[in-house]
Amino acid sequence: MFDKFKEECGVFGIFGHNDAARLTNLGLNALQHRGQKSGGMVVGNGEVLRTKHGRGHVDEIFDLEALNLLRGHLAIGHVSSLIPADEGTRGLQPLLTKSRHGLVALCSNGNLLDASNQRVELEQGGAIFSSLSDMEVVLHRLALPGPSNIEHAIIAACGNDDSAYSMLFATPTSLIAIRDPRGFRPLCMGELEDATVFASETCAFDIIDATYVREVSPGEMVTVDADGVRSSRPFSEKPHKHCVFEHVYFSRPDSVVFGRSVNKSRLLMGEALARELPVKADVVVPVPDSGVPAAVGFASESGIPFGFGIVRNHYINRGVIERQSQIRDFGVRIRLNPVPDVIEGKIVVLIDDSIVQGNTSQKIVKMVRDAGAIEVHMRISCPPIIAPCYYGVSTPPKERLIASRKSVEDIRQFLNVESLGFLSMQGMLTAVGDASDTRFCTACYTGVYPTRVPELINIDRR
Ligand code: SF4
Repeated sequence: MFDKFKEECGVFGIFGHNDAARLTNLGLNALQHRGQKSGGMVVGNGEVLRTKHGRGHVDEIFDLEALNLLRGHLAIGHVSSLIPADEGTRGLQPLLTKSRHGLVALCSNGNLLDASNQRVELEQGGAIFSSLSDMEVVLHRLALPGPSNIEHAIIAACGNDDSAYSMLFATPTSLIAIRDPRGFRPLCMGELEDATVFASETCAFDIIDATYVREVSPGEMVTVDADGVRSSRPFSEKPHKHCVFEHVYFSRPDSVVFGRSVNKSRLLMGEALARELPVKADVVVPVPDSGVPAAVGFASESGIPFGFGIVRNHYINRGVIERQSQIRDFGVRIRLNPVPDVIEGKIVVLIDDSIVQGNTSQKIVKMVRDAGAIEVHMRISCPPIIAPCYYGVSTPPKERLIASRKSVEDIRQFLNVESLGFLSMQGMLTAVGDASDTRFCTACYTGVYPTRVPELINIDRR
């Protein structure tokens, strides 16, 4: 609908609180923007792990009755933006299994680059998979003969390869967090009274009044159990490659991600955009919601007034969209609506965070013109996207990325705008606090991947 890259997952975990399930439910609600298609939770009480999964939004999956049954002092939870390929709830995370380590559950944000090959190898060795999830590969590797200690077995199962993952494991008595050595996907750690909490973003801490402590470092494993919190660095050091797109679009602006305020990064992107690509205009209009902070930055740097010239309907659900699309295609109007008195008779600078395929941007421009804009200038708060992502993000294939086959001038003509400009790579990296270009992955803008990319990426990534 919005022609964006889609973050595939969000994770939340808590150890040491008797209301673990309710707090996880709240945390997952705060992370709902990272995945709206399915979710799940596993709760431990010292003896067993109980689980509940479902399709749809968090509040559709966990009603009061379900939460009352999920009693325990530790929990891990997951939201996903992928439609499960399995029947029912099979393959939904957290995955739960019983192995030589007893009951173990696992959920992850990321992608195992070599999952397809590993799956074939395991099947040839006699393994029987019960779902299409790539994360089941980790559970099978965990069950292989090897270290008897669960932490060592997890390290062996995750491997030290080119994958991107921020994973949470639960046993009936412990919670273990682990992050890949490059730190592609975020994972934060916090405290709530005597409890330890983990989440993809700090907005999940705010909702439960937990305090942000720090990131789980790239390549770090953190174990929490009755003996306290232990940290280890099981993997060899690798250059950090945090996903810069978390600051461009995925994360909520009220979150701290990779140790930095997302809102601050986006404001600075807007300010840099105004300096790099100035334009004479009457009003700066964001494409809501993700374009708002950059538009505020652009307006403040340029001195052009800011205006909410497009309003987003947050309350329309997928069912309505699907039913309406059977009558006729309402395009972007079903979610976005122009405010004519902000736009009519004005030269408009339209600010968006990214352009992926371009079709939605084209419709938004038409909508703004139809509302009476006399000129539309478009500014994008990141560079052109030319390559797909293999690190836990849903992206169209390269040939459908408009900037991979058209020049900026060709895209301008396609969008039908008076001018079009993208923030430079240096402008974006400076805005995220990495002017020397050492800490962030930028592969979708350059096509240069920080790891090898296998020819066959597993079809089902969840
Ligand atoms: Fe993020 Fe890199 Fe993927 Fe782009 S290619 S979305 S920067 S992880």
